[in-house]
Amino acid sequence: MKILVATEKPFSKQATDGIAAIAKEAGYECALLEKYTSVDEFKAAVADADALIVRSDKVTADIIAAAPKLKIVVRAGAGYDNLDLAACSARGIVAMNTPGQNSNAVAELAIAMMIFMARNQFTPGTGTEISGKRLGIHAYGNVGRIVARYGKAFGMEVTAYDPFITDAAVFEKDGVKMASSVAELYKNSDYLSLHIPATPETINSIGYDLLMSMPKGATLVNTARKEVIDEAGLAKALEERTDLKYITDIIPATASELAEKFGKRFFTTPKKMGAETAEANVNAGLAAARQIVSYLKDGVTKFQVNK
Ligand code: NAD
Repeated sequence: MKILVATEKPFSKQATDGIAAIAKEAGYECALLEKYTSVDEFKAAVADADALIVRSDKVTADIIAAAPKLKIVVRAGAGYDNLDLAACSARGIVAMNTPGQNSNAVAELAIAMMIFMARNQFTPGTGTEISGKRLGIHAYGNVGRIVARYGKAFGMEVTAYDPFITDAAVFEKDGVKMASSVAELYKNSDYLSLHIPATPETINSIGYDLLMSMPKGATLVNTARKEVIDEAGLAKALEERTDLKYITDIIPATASELAEKFGKRFFTTPKKMGAETAEANVNAGLAAARQIVSYLKDGVTKFQVNK
């Protein structure tokens, strides 16, 4: 059995060493394709792979077609919108993610982003504090829950909304209030931290109306996905409401226009960096390798996303 690790943006050495060790212990071969510059390189490398580990690399129907032996592909990370699930399913290939492995890294960045905006992007002048402010968590998954915990530690009043969690007790046990709707959440959040996945229902779902409903001086923090933002609606709201701010870890399609028009009320990281910590790198890479071994040896499909 051969595991291919195909990463345009490589894992750390500690992570690849760990993956190789897990493969070796299972009696498998492990190959690395790092910093590849063409799809053809990826296709050639995957030709004899039984298992594939990727990060944000796109596993398209073309890649799947070029991998006749492939049995499992694991996205080392949370969001798996880079995997063509239909193409995997059509071939009976199991697709997985490694949920929770990078959540702390993303949650720490979300809190850092709030403070960065509260302090005028670390430029001179009087800022504000996040303590005592209302924090809204949109989607209470792995990242959202940690942001809620850290928000409370900073003295924020935390409310959350998740369409798949209707039992208020889930929030209450964490000292978090449950909002009854998306509209209610945005209306009452000085900081709104987005943690929804990019799905047909969520794409372009955060726009003008929700932003306009936010309290004076509110900040929208996006460490989730750029696709969930209706950028035209966002720009219109920022134009009409000069008190609103937007900070994101996923470069908007219209980033240069937003930067030019809205100055210090807008910020994007130059490259998605939420999960870019040594710890998250290692956690996600090793989890991916372990999940592959569990599946190939024992048929464990716990984290399968194309069921
Ligand atoms: P998760 O799967 O643990 O949680 C997602 C939550 O979203 C779940 O609680 C689910 O019930 C909820 N949800 C599903 N559909 C929804 C909908 N239509 N509306 C509202 N909520 C919905 O995911 P996570 O690990 O917490 O990741 C959250 C987001 O952060 C994802 O978009 C992920 O892609 C992104 N992410 C970004 C980075 C980064 O580097 N910036 C790293 C990891 C994850």
